[in-house]
Amino acid sequence: MRQRNELAHLSRVTMLGELAGSLAHELNQPLTAILSNAEAAQMFLENDAADLVEIRKIMGDIVSADKRAGEIIQRLRSMLKKEELTRQPLEINDVLQEAINLVRSDLVGQGVMVDVISADGLPRITGDRVQLQQVLINLIFNACDAMAGNTADDRKLVVRTDAHDGTVRIAIIDSGCGIPADMLERIFDSFVTTKPGGMGLGLSICRGIIAEHQGRIAAENNPDRGACFRVILPVVSGR
Ligand code: ADP
Repeated sequence: MRQRNELAHLSRVTMLGELAGSLAHELNQPLTAILSNAEAAQMFLENDAADLVEIRKIMGDIVSADKRAGEIIQRLRSMLKKEELTRQPLEINDVLQEAINLVRSDLVGQGVMVDVISADGLPRITGDRVQLQQVLINLIFNACDAMAGNTADDRKLVVRTDAHDGTVRIAIIDSGCGIPADMLERIFDSFVTTKPGGMGLGLSICRGIIAEHQGRIAAENNPDRGACFRVILPVVSGR
Protein backbone atom coordinates (compact mmCIF):
# COMPACT_ATOMS: atom_id res chain seq x y z
CA MET A 1 0.00 0.00 0.00
CA ARG A 2 2.74 2.37 0.97
CA GLN A 3 4.53 1.63 -2.25
CA ARG A 4 1.35 2.25 -4.21
CA ASN A 5 0.91 5.67 -2.61
CA GLU A 6 4.46 6.56 -3.41
CA LEU A 7 4.09 5.43 -6.97
CA ALA A 8 0.99 7.59 -7.31
CA HIS A 9 2.99 10.52 -6.05
CA LEU A 10 5.98 9.75 -8.19
CA SER A 11 3.96 9.61 -11.36
CA ARG A 12 2.84 13.20 -10.73
CA VAL A 13 5.32 14.57 -13.22
CA THR A 14 4.01 12.36 -16.00
CA MET A 15 0.43 12.99 -14.97
CA LEU A 16 0.88 16.73 -14.90
CA GLY A 17 1.87 16.68 -18.54
CA GLU A 18 -1.28 14.85 -19.51
CA LEU A 19 -3.51 16.97 -17.30
CA ALA A 20 -2.03 20.18 -18.61
CA GLY A 21 -2.74 18.92 -22.12
CA SER A 22 -6.38 18.23 -21.38
CA LEU A 23 -6.80 21.54 -19.53
CA ALA A 24 -5.36 23.41 -22.48
CA HIS A 25 -7.96 21.65 -24.59
CA GLU A 26 -10.74 22.61 -22.14
CA LEU A 27 -9.60 26.23 -22.15
CA ASN A 28 -10.21 26.44 -25.86
CA GLN A 29 -13.93 26.15 -25.38
CA PRO A 30 -14.58 29.27 -23.26
CA LEU A 31 -12.02 31.17 -25.34
CA THR A 32 -13.87 30.31 -28.54
CA ALA A 33 -17.16 31.32 -26.92
CA ILE A 34 -15.69 34.65 -25.83
CA LEU A 35 -14.40 35.35 -29.32
CA SER A 36 -17.63 34.54 -31.13
CA ASN A 37 -19.70 36.52 -28.62
CA ALA A 38 -17.41 39.52 -28.88
CA GLU A 39 -17.62 39.36 -32.68
CA ALA A 40 -21.41 39.18 -32.49
CA ALA A 41 -21.46 42.23 -30.20
CA GLN A 42 -19.27 44.12 -32.66
CA MET A 43 -21.74 43.32 -35.43
CA PHE A 44 -24.67 44.53 -33.37
CA LEU A 45 -22.83 47.74 -32.53
CA GLU A 46 -22.29 48.51 -36.20
CA ASN A 47 -26.03 48.94 -36.65
CA ASP A 48 -27.27 52.44 -36.03
CA ALA A 49 -30.04 51.20 -33.80
CA ALA A 50 -27.94 48.83 -31.72
CA ASP A 51 -30.05 46.31 -29.83
CA LEU A 52 -28.91 46.97 -26.29
CA VAL A 53 -30.89 44.09 -24.82
CA GLU A 54 -29.15 41.65 -27.13
CA ILE A 55 -25.74 43.23 -26.48
CA ARG A 56 -26.28 43.02 -22.73
CA LYS A 57 -27.04 39.31 -23.09
CA ILE A 58 -23.89 38.80 -25.15
CA MET A 59 -21.82 40.62 -22.54
CA GLY A 60 -23.27 38.34 -19.87
CA ASP A 61 -22.19 35.31 -21.91
CA ILE A 62 -18.69 36.73 -22.28
CA VAL A 63 -18.39 37.28 -18.54
CA SER A 64 -19.47 33.74 -17.70
CA ALA A 65 -17.18 32.16 -20.32
CA ASP A 66 -14.32 34.24 -18.94
CA LYS A 67 -15.09 33.06 -15.40
CA ARG A 68 -15.07 29.48 -16.62
CA ALA A 69 -11.65 30.00 -18.20
CA GLY A 70 -10.44 31.49 -14.91
CA GLU A 71 -11.61 28.44 -13.00
CA ILE A 72 -9.78 26.12 -15.37
CA ILE A 73 -6.56 28.10 -14.89
CA GLN A 74 -7.11 28.04 -11.13
CA ARG A 75 -7.30 24.25 -11.26
CA LEU A 76 -4.05 24.07 -13.19
CA ARG A 77 -2.42 26.41 -10.67
CA SER A 78 -3.43 24.30 -7.70
CA MET A 79 -2.08 21.19 -9.43
CA LEU A 80 1.24 22.84 -10.09
CA LYS A 81 1.49 24.23 -6.58
CA LYS A 82 4.69 23.18 -4.96
CA GLU A 83 4.33 20.67 -2.24
CA GLU A 84 5.97 21.34 1.08
CA LEU A 85 9.49 20.05 1.17
CA THR A 86 10.25 17.75 4.06
CA ARG A 87 13.88 17.87 5.06
CA GLN A 88 15.68 14.90 6.49
CA PRO A 89 19.19 13.49 6.26
CA LEU A 90 19.42 11.12 3.32
CA GLU A 91 21.82 8.58 1.92
CA ILE A 92 21.66 9.32 -1.77
CA ASN A 93 22.49 5.73 -2.70
CA ASP A 94 19.42 4.51 -0.78
CA VAL A 95 17.22 7.16 -2.37
CA LEU A 96 18.48 6.13 -5.79
CA GLN A 97 18.12 2.40 -5.19
CA GLU A 98 14.53 2.82 -4.03
CA ALA A 99 13.74 4.92 -7.09
CA ILE A 100 15.17 2.25 -9.35
CA ASN A 101 13.21 -0.46 -7.54
CA LEU A 102 10.02 1.52 -8.11
CA VAL A 103 10.55 1.65 -11.87
CA ARG A 104 12.20 -1.75 -12.27
CA SER A 105 9.24 -3.32 -14.06
CA ASP A 106 9.02 -0.38 -16.49
CA LEU A 107 12.70 -0.78 -17.27
CA VAL A 108 12.31 -4.49 -17.87
CA GLY A 109 9.26 -3.82 -20.03
CA GLN A 110 11.25 -1.43 -22.19
CA GLY A 111 14.26 -3.70 -22.38
CA VAL A 112 16.51 -1.21 -20.59
CA MET A 113 19.51 -2.57 -18.68
CA VAL A 114 20.59 -0.44 -15.73
CA ASP A 115 24.07 -0.40 -14.33
CA VAL A 116 24.26 1.33 -10.95
CA ILE A 117 27.76 2.40 -9.93
CA SER A 118 27.50 3.92 -6.48
CA ALA A 119 30.43 5.29 -4.54
CA ASP A 120 30.84 4.02 -0.98
CA GLY A 121 30.86 6.20 2.09
CA LEU A 122 29.11 9.18 0.55
CA PRO A 123 28.26 12.00 2.95
CA ARG A 124 24.58 12.43 3.66
CA ILE A 125 22.57 15.19 2.12
CA THR A 126 19.45 16.90 3.46
CA GLY A 127 16.27 16.78 1.47
CA ASP A 128 12.91 15.36 0.56
CA ARG A 129 13.23 11.69 -0.31
CA VAL A 130 10.05 11.43 -2.38
CA GLN A 131 10.69 14.59 -4.35
CA LEU A 132 14.26 13.60 -5.12
CA GLN A 133 12.99 10.23 -6.28
CA GLN A 134 10.49 12.03 -8.46
CA VAL A 135 13.40 13.82 -10.14
CA LEU A 136 15.43 10.64 -10.61
CA ILE A 137 12.49 8.69 -12.00
CA ASN A 138 11.71 11.45 -14.43
CA LEU A 139 15.31 11.49 -15.64
CA ILE A 140 15.29 7.70 -15.95
CA PHE A 141 12.03 7.72 -17.94
CA ASN A 142 13.40 10.42 -20.24
CA ALA A 143 16.52 8.32 -20.77
CA CYS A 144 14.31 5.32 -21.64
CA ASP A 145 12.36 7.44 -24.14
CA ALA A 146 15.64 8.56 -25.71
CA MET A 147 16.72 4.92 -26.14
CA ALA A 148 13.41 3.67 -27.53
CA GLY A 149 14.83 3.90 -31.05
CA ASN A 150 17.87 1.74 -30.20
CA THR A 151 17.85 -1.94 -31.05
CA ALA A 152 16.47 -4.07 -28.22
CA ASP A 153 19.87 -5.28 -26.97
CA ASP A 154 21.36 -1.79 -26.99
CA ARG A 155 19.42 0.12 -24.34
CA LYS A 156 21.90 0.68 -21.58
CA LEU A 157 21.55 3.14 -18.76
CA VAL A 158 24.36 3.92 -16.33
CA VAL A 159 23.58 5.63 -13.04
CA ARG A 160 26.58 6.74 -11.08
CA THR A 161 26.98 8.51 -7.73
CA ASP A 162 30.04 10.16 -6.24
CA ALA A 163 31.16 12.93 -3.92
CA HIS A 164 32.89 16.02 -5.19
CA ASP A 165 33.96 19.20 -3.47
CA GLY A 166 31.26 19.42 -0.79
CA THR A 167 28.57 17.97 -3.04
CA VAL A 168 27.09 14.62 -3.87
CA ARG A 169 26.55 14.00 -7.57
CA ILE A 170 24.26 11.66 -9.45
CA ALA A 171 24.85 11.12 -13.16
CA ILE A 172 22.25 9.46 -15.38
CA ILE A 173 23.93 8.44 -18.58
CA ASP A 174 22.00 6.96 -21.48
CA SER A 175 22.96 5.66 -24.88
CA GLY A 176 20.03 7.19 -26.70
CA CYS A 177 19.50 9.77 -29.42
CA GLY A 178 21.15 12.61 -27.49
CA ILE A 179 19.87 16.17 -27.12
CA PRO A 180 19.76 18.26 -30.30
CA ALA A 181 22.54 20.88 -29.99
CA ASP A 182 20.17 23.81 -30.48
CA MET A 183 18.00 22.57 -27.61
CA LEU A 184 20.66 22.08 -24.95
CA GLU A 185 20.12 25.57 -23.56
CA ARG A 186 16.36 25.25 -23.41
CA ILE A 187 15.38 21.75 -22.32
CA PHE A 188 14.85 22.77 -18.69
CA ASP A 189 12.37 25.48 -19.72
CA SER A 190 8.65 24.72 -19.51
CA PHE A 191 6.87 23.47 -22.61
CA VAL A 192 10.04 22.56 -24.48
CA THR A 193 9.52 19.10 -25.92
CA THR A 194 10.41 17.01 -28.96
CA LYS A 195 7.92 14.26 -28.12
CA PRO A 196 4.64 14.02 -30.03
CA GLY A 197 2.54 13.76 -26.86
CA GLY A 198 5.01 15.55 -24.58
CA MET A 199 4.25 18.66 -22.56
CA GLY A 200 7.82 19.58 -21.75
CA LEU A 201 7.13 20.05 -18.05
CA GLY A 202 9.16 17.20 -16.54
CA LEU A 203 12.60 18.80 -16.62
CA SER A 204 11.33 22.17 -15.50
CA ILE A 205 9.68 20.53 -12.47
CA CYS A 206 12.93 18.62 -11.82
CA ARG A 207 14.94 21.83 -11.95
CA GLY A 208 12.52 23.45 -9.48
CA ILE A 209 12.83 20.58 -7.01
CA ILE A 210 16.63 20.56 -7.22
CA ALA A 211 16.78 24.34 -6.80
CA GLU A 212 14.73 23.98 -3.62
CA HIS A 213 17.45 21.63 -2.41
CA GLN A 214 20.07 24.32 -3.19
CA GLY A 215 21.40 22.02 -5.86
CA ARG A 216 21.99 22.11 -9.58
CA ILE A 217 20.86 20.04 -12.52
CA ALA A 218 22.64 20.04 -15.86
CA ALA A 219 22.57 18.18 -19.16
CA GLU A 220 25.17 17.44 -21.77
CA ASN A 221 25.68 15.04 -24.64
CA ASN A 222 28.20 12.22 -24.22
CA PRO A 223 31.26 12.25 -26.52
CA ASP A 224 30.12 9.07 -28.29
CA ARG A 225 26.34 9.07 -28.10
CA GLY A 226 23.45 9.65 -25.76
CA ALA A 227 22.96 12.25 -23.06
CA CYS A 228 24.09 12.68 -19.48
CA PHE A 229 22.03 14.43 -16.81
CA ARG A 230 23.78 15.44 -13.60
CA VAL A 231 22.14 16.29 -10.31
CA ILE A 232 24.48 18.00 -7.86
CA LEU A 233 23.37 18.38 -4.25
CA PRO A 234 25.20 20.20 -1.49
CA VAL A 235 26.37 18.29 1.56
CA VAL A 236 25.18 20.21 4.57
CA SER A 237 27.62 19.71 7.40
CA GLY A 238 26.63 19.41 11.02
CA ARG A 239 23.29 17.68 10.35
P1 ADP B 1 8.79 15.79 -22.13
O1 ADP B 1 9.34 14.46 -21.66
O2 ADP B 1 7.31 15.95 -21.92
O3 ADP B 1 9.20 16.15 -23.52
P2 ADP B 1 10.83 17.01 -20.40
O4 ADP B 1 10.86 18.39 -19.82
O5 ADP B 1 11.01 15.88 -19.47
O6 ADP B 1 9.42 16.91 -21.15
O7 ADP B 1 11.93 16.91 -21.56
C1 ADP B 1 12.05 17.96 -22.51
C2 ADP B 1 12.81 17.51 -23.72
O8 ADP B 1 14.19 17.30 -23.41
C3 ADP B 1 12.36 16.18 -24.33
O9 ADP B 1 11.26 16.32 -25.17
C4 ADP B 1 13.61 15.76 -25.10
O10 ADP B 1 13.68 16.40 -26.34
C5 ADP B 1 14.74 16.31 -24.25
N1 ADP B 1 15.33 15.25 -23.41
C6 ADP B 1 15.10 15.01 -22.10
N2 ADP B 1 15.83 13.97 -21.66
C7 ADP B 1 16.55 13.52 -22.72
C8 ADP B 1 17.51 12.45 -22.92
N3 ADP B 1 17.86 11.64 -21.92
N4 ADP B 1 18.05 12.33 -24.17
C9 ADP B 1 17.69 13.14 -25.18
N5 ADP B 1 16.81 14.16 -25.05
C10 ADP B 1 16.24 14.35 -23.84
